[in-house]
Amino acid sequence: MNIKLAAKNKESQRAVRVGGLEFGRDFVLAAGPCSVESEEQMAAIARAVSEAGANLLRGGAFKPRTSPYAFQGLGLAGLKILQRAGREMGLPVVTEVLDARDVPWVADYADMLQIGARNMQNFSLLKEVGRAGRPVLLKRGMNATLAEWLSCAEYILHYGNPDVVLCERGIRTFETHTRNTLDLSAVPALHQLTHLPVMVDPSHGTGRRELIPAMTLAAVAAGADAVMLEVHHQPDRALSDGDQALLPAEFARLVRRIQVLRDALRQLPDIPPDPLAGGTGPNPENKEEVTP
Ligand code: PEP
Ligand code: MN
Repeated sequence: MNIKLAAKNKESQRAVRVGGLEFGRDFVLAAGPCSVESEEQMAAIARAVSEAGANLLRGGAFKPRTSPYAFQGLGLAGLKILQRAGREMGLPVVTEVLDARDVPWVADYADMLQIGARNMQNFSLLKEVGRAGRPVLLKRGMNATLAEWLSCAEYILHYGNPDVVLCERGIRTFETHTRNTLDLSAVPALHQLTHLPVMVDPSHGTGRRELIPAMTLAAVAAGADAVMLEVHHQPDRALSDGDQALLPAEFARLVRRIQVLRDALRQLPDIPPDPLAGGTGPNPENKEEVTP
């Protein structure tokens, strides 16, 4: 794997800050609608998620839709609405940028730029966000290996931006019950390979509202530094991804459960260091060749 700047070593260690948040120190709870739809929708959802404990507000103004006939996002108007909602609640905002040409001006409205799964290997976009001077949330491509994903992070770092957070959002498998297969093994694996913080998005990772709480708690238990959740006050009327939007009350309940789980995880007995954890490399005892 040809990664240098993203690799886990002392020199590369650096905190990623977004607004007043510091990934790693603060558990980051990103929440908001899939798409910014209107001033009223964004204000209602921003208030609900903020009151429940979210510390980063999400909302898409440019939507990468499978069909050209589906809602494409409000563009600049959506960015303005998102920025106002964030300011009103005192929350930094993260939003997706789809096109390299838009990066400089989208960066004026966003505290963090999201590169979506479909654009993970859009190298001109990666170079541009590398120069953007804004933290970047790099989602995993739906067919990407960890090595391919880390190489994309390496592009952003190489082009001058050290502030990258990786987001596991599910990969394509043969399973069709869920929208994607949320690869939670990526979380501890990435913590071994890279110093970059890891977020998990169980909304796109499952596509099904009823599965999201369990997978969110599992992500926290797996060691995620952050989670991203789609929330809508009227999911039946959402212009995108209504099936995977939590209601504000469901989100608030989940936040309380995350807090209880995190407290419990801190109380786990302090046993001698696990030789398999924390980037110490493979367990020497397992080194012998295994014949299949
Ligand atoms: C999103 O976060 O709204 C989104 C489109 O996600 P992904 O790129 O993971 O599909
Ligand atoms: Mn979505």
